[in-house]
Amino acid sequence: MQRGTNLGRLGGYNQAVILDAIRRAHEGVARVELVELTGLSPQTISNVVRRLVDEGLVREDRKTVSGPGKPRTLLALEVSSRFAIGIHLDPALVTLVLLNLDGEVVASARYEMPAVGEPDQTVRAMAGHVRELIRSADVAREKILGIGVAAPGPIDVPRGIVVGPPMLHGWESVSLREPLRELTGLPVLLDKDVTAAAVAELWASERAEPENFAFIYLGTGLGAGVVLQGEVLRGATGNIGEIGHFPAQVDVPECFCGRRNCVGMALAFRTLIQQGMDAGLLPPGQDLDKLSLTNEAAYQLCRMARQGQPEALAIFRNAARHLGTAVAHVANLLDVDRIVFGGPWWEGLADFALPMLRQEVQEQFVARAIHEVEVTGSGLGTEVGAIGGACLVLDQTFSPKASGLLLGNPA
Ligand SMILES: [Zn+2]
Repeated sequence: MQRGTNLGRLGGYNQAVILDAIRRAHEGVARVELVELTGLSPQTISNVVRRLVDEGLVREDRKTVSGPGKPRTLLALEVSSRFAIGIHLDPALVTLVLLNLDGEVVASARYEMPAVGEPDQTVRAMAGHVRELIRSADVAREKILGIGVAAPGPIDVPRGIVVGPPMLHGWESVSLREPLRELTGLPVLLDKDVTAAAVAELWASERAEPENFAFIYLGTGLGAGVVLQGEVLRGATGNIGEIGHFPAQVDVPECFCGRRNCVGMALAFRTLIQQGMDAGLLPPGQDLDKLSLTNEAAYQLCRMARQGQPEALAIFRNAARHLGTAVAHVANLLDVDRIVFGGPWWEGLADFALPMLRQEVQEQFVARAIHEVEVTGSGLGTEVGAIGGACLVLDQTFSPKASGLLLGNPA
């Protein structure tokens, strides 16, 4: 059975289609153009637009065009009429962002995670951070649509529970959605960070054709978010994309899943740091159990590679070969047009790793005679998890999807 959501859609499928067309027309769009873009009747357009203007979501700009004829009225999204909050939960950091309707970050904040093993305290702290974010941005509370939480997997989406991510010690079956909703009074959505990142990429896309891509998320772990035919795929319980456990021809430390050949471990900080010590690039005695994104030794190694240090580059080239093969499997399984790399760890790697990965993926993509697979880095930066959280809310509220018919009023 299809499940409903406590996050209200703003008025029906046709309204979502029209709002989406207005959002994508950055220079403004006339009613007559909307008829053409959406295939809806002028009467429907007129009714829906009136409602969107009344609700403050859309504004009318009278523009004089050169030459004869009366000025045209262009419709534009009122980007500051509503906002969404995104929270990214990382083993080391909690990142919050406030997005406007155009997907722009208007406020953000980062906090260290409270003491390990204190989920209750973390959820209370998150609620406090949300209040502080709203206050600092000076946004009226009624303009906040809701909160989207991007968490490391595994998660239980139907129950809103973080099940016990390997790097969040003490987080075994922690209910997140309900307590956060109670503490903030706002609707709360929960999704895996990799899926949230894919939603963010989809929301930022300017393409007219339905998207087919995999978002390869590099954070403290490795995972993939999947979009096919413009729809975000989640799997039965929201745990799609655990590619970090693909087997690789590699000698790596034991993964938390118990096996010794997981590709995710080929680019885990502890593996890279050990290799850095073995090559004499890092002083011996590094703390290999420090997994978090604040791991200075991992970033130090990364900087050396960026500066062209040959041994450091060799370490990352080796990791990129294994990652590239795993990602090529993803591309071959899903027949995507695009592979997008991103996530908090990606920023440091992009310069030198993207060409390596592009070569690996494209060489192993079986359908390359029929179409190219484009291999790119995300433009959304290190906060893509939190931005993705907020985009879950925007997507749920505004995207024209068939499921919206179940939730809203017909236009
Ligand atoms: Zn594993």
